[in-house]
Amino acid sequence: MSAQLLSGKEVAAIVRDEVAHRVAALADRGRSVGLATVMVGEDPASEIYVRSKHRAAERAGMLSFDHQLPADAGQEQVERLVESLNRDPQVDGIIVQLPLPSGLDGNRAVACIDPAKDADGLHPYNLGLLALERGYLRPATPSGIMRIMQHYGIETAGRLALIIGRSLLVGKPMALLLGAKGVDATVVQAHSRTQQLDDLIAKADILVAAIGKPRFIHGSQIKRGAVVIDVGINRTKEGLVGDVDFDSAVEVAGAITPVPGGVGVMTVASLLANTVTAAELAFAG
Ligand code: NAP
Repeated sequence: MSAQLLSGKEVAAIVRDEVAHRVAALADRGRSVGLATVMVGEDPASEIYVRSKHRAAERAGMLSFDHQLPADAGQEQVERLVESLNRDPQVDGIIVQLPLPSGLDGNRAVACIDPAKDADGLHPYNLGLLALERGYLRPATPSGIMRIMQHYGIETAGRLALIIGRSLLVGKPMALLLGAKGVDATVVQAHSRTQQLDDLIAKADILVAAIGKPRFIHGSQIKRGAVVIDVGINRTKEGLVGDVDFDSAVEVAGAITPVPGGVGVMTVASLLANTVTAAELAFAG
């Protein structure tokens, strides 16, 4: 194996520790920190994610509130619940677990969250602040990736960063973060209509794969020494795999995130960090 392993597991442990200290500091001043999730229906993958968020919140010393609505809940019912959490002084961070069952509008439900309690950093107001290079509650997955790169001292300035994927959850905010002043990567964003993707992959110094297709990118396509960030989480017969074929990529890349143990664990740590930030700001008035 030649590439350096970028261990999200290791960085997430540091972030969780920082969060726990910040939660304890608020507790010393009589202020609790609370995270609430809203889950609609019974998607098994979402249930696993929600459980892991509550476990992590409780380990960090936070209160956690698990709200489940039936699969046939209406849009209004979901939004009323979110609005009641907006008003709840014990709740500092709110997550609407996506995707919602068909017929419900996840974007509209997220837009009902008070932007000051937006644990996932996906509210349109916070995404707008991100575009303005301001704000403090950032999309959890991309900000987790930035923290991994910071931890391992990955150089970004002037380097060509190719982001494959343009979702609001990952690809778009990732492009904003990598292209921001002070980070200064030269960002190219690819998607399903991109032509000559192979040429772009071969040139990328930093490759972020957020596609949702198991082992879509092979090591033979990657530039020698590139930094490879694999966001993909794909369930296959052989278990969880990323969007990058790890075994071949690890021989070519300079550094790479594994799946599991890479980006995924950082997402939960980042949303806890957003929640304690929200609590600190609310406490400071
Ligand atoms: P998504 O909304 O489905 O977006 C996928 C993106 O990939 C789209 O922009 C799509 O292009 C692009 N794409 C699809 N096929 C392509 C192709 N052949 N060539 C180039 N681009 C292509 O998915 P997402 O929510 O961003 O998630 C992506 C992956 O990351 C999934 O595996 C997901 O499970 C994982 N994920 C992981 C975490 C984590 O915590 N690690 C968090 C979120 C998501 P179009 O826009 O043209 O359709």
